Amino acid sequence: DTIGANLRRTADAHGEREVLVDVPSGRRWTYDELVRDVDRLSRALLASGVQRGDRVGIWAPNVPEWVLVQYATATIGAILVCVNPAYRSHELAFVLRQSGMRTLVSATAHKSSDYRAMVEEVRGDCPQLQDVVYLGEDSWSQLLARAGEVSDEDLASRAADLDPDQPINIQYTSGTTGFPKGATLTHHNILNNGFFVGEMIAYSHEDRIAVPVPFYHCFGMVMGNLAATSHGACLVIPAASFEPAATLKAVQQERCTSLYGVPTMFLAELGLEDFTSYDLSSLRTGIMAGSPCPVEVMKRVIADMHMEAVAISYGMTETSPVSLMTRMDDNLARRTETVGRVMPHLEVRIIDPATGQRVGRGETGELCTRGYSVMRGYWEQDDKTAESIDEARWMHTGDLATMDDDGYVAIVGRIKDLVIRGGENIYPREIEEFLYTHPDIADVQVVGVPDERYGEELMAWVIMRPGRPELQIDALQDFCRGKLAHYKIPRYLHVTGEFPMTVTGKIRKVQMREEAVEILA
Ligand code: ATP
Ligand code: MG
Repeated sequence: DTIGANLRRTADAHGEREVLVDVPSGRRWTYDELVRDVDRLSRALLASGVQRGDRVGIWAPNVPEWVLVQYATATIGAILVCVNPAYRSHELAFVLRQSGMRTLVSATAHKSSDYRAMVEEVRGDCPQLQDVVYLGEDSWSQLLARAGEVSDEDLASRAADLDPDQPINIQYTSGTTGFPKGATLTHHNILNNGFFVGEMIAYSHEDRIAVPVPFYHCFGMVMGNLAATSHGACLVIPAASFEPAATLKAVQQERCTSLYGVPTMFLAELGLEDFTSYDLSSLRTGIMAGSPCPVEVMKRVIADMHMEAVAISYGMTETSPVSLMTRMDDNLARRTETVGRVMPHLEVRIIDPATGQRVGRGETGELCTRGYSVMRGYWEQDDKTAESIDEARWMHTGDLATMDDDGYVAIVGRIKDLVIRGGENIYPREIEEFLYTHPDIADVQVVGVPDERYGEELMAWVIMRPGRPELQIDALQDFCRGKLAHYKIPRYLHVTGEFPMTVTGKIRKVQMREEAVEILA
């Protein structure tokens, strides 16, 4: 199937049911209404000259038009380029040029981001950019007004002619470990992945999914949008960008059954002063993914948010994204200690990065995945593609993992985050998990900093719980002594109010390592 055909098929079965609710504006769409608006936008884009394979960008926070643009571009076979809402003009210019974007649909402004000013600043340097359309402005209504120039028959014949193996999406990776790369994905890649994610948590037309994670990232657009529309479920947008209180309010008001987030989002929601005043009893499931889920956070989500069936999933932009996921009946230990088992129709294996050979069960190595979900490649970066996808089409994830006898995989950390101190391999995650058990610590990250004597030393970055006294390094070390091997005890401590983050809510350890060097200097 193509994404457009799949949406129509769901609408045939569930036309009158709700598919999209924008809580801030109160706007609502049924499946029939969504198909009508997607068709109108598809015809308008064709009328404006967008051809199959042309790159059409979207630069906006979570607004319903984002979803319309996603399905309209897929319907006409244009390649949707998801532009990170946190980008500034320099990064925007990079993506505009790197993707060769023809048309950009942009928000005008959101919070401190003046998108229009940034677009106008760089537009002159991007000659291939022919059209810019600002949401909610004349240019948007003028675009829609052109829909009449293309007939329904013309649209239908073009849509029928699409090849599901053609690219329809360029998603730039989070840039957690370096500069973003444009993963190029097809209908098959992401529609199948969205569908199977929905299967894993048994979505039906009764589900209402709160999506506070950004649409621009595969967590939102695949695990949210495509999982929902392939199952007749409804998407609920709590706010244009993540706000913990708005999220819980949306769950309560819209009786959401499922809630998504990266672990830091769940932490922020659980940390709200009036947390207990929200009625979250409608929740039955949700997905926590994107970065390691601390066991303590997981336990609180299950206990305090009544989400016994919350799923953990592991994935990456390059693999559409999900490769591993917990099942509805996995027990608490599996949900807290592992990221579940391989998804249907995919393969995973764990290799020694030095030799390429499989490691034994229970041993740590690099996680590799293979199957329908693996991207075509990085957009116009064949050298980078060759570094991560080998000749047998295995995607080398750059993550370290172990697998037990039953196929459950535990993520140990990123190869790039591994700290080597005096020849000992240290996985920061293990120390972070331990420090989470400290009663005064709200959040903690551990990074390696260069050291003349040992090569690297550990620095713990700590956010204190509100009202707790600032932790001192001696007290921290005392807390670890006797419980962690001596070389795993952090040498340095940095107490802070926040960690450097990507817009997807991931902690940027690269930046923390750089800042750590400055702090110590
Ligand atoms: P970049 O590749 O640009 O450095 P990124 O890898 O963070 O950024 P994404 O594709 O958004 O970009 O994230 C994929 C990565 O997120 C995985 O490779 C893994 O390191 C991490 N990750 C995802 N899910 C989990 C999980 N459940 N547990 C631990 N880590 C996870
Ligand atoms: Mg990555």
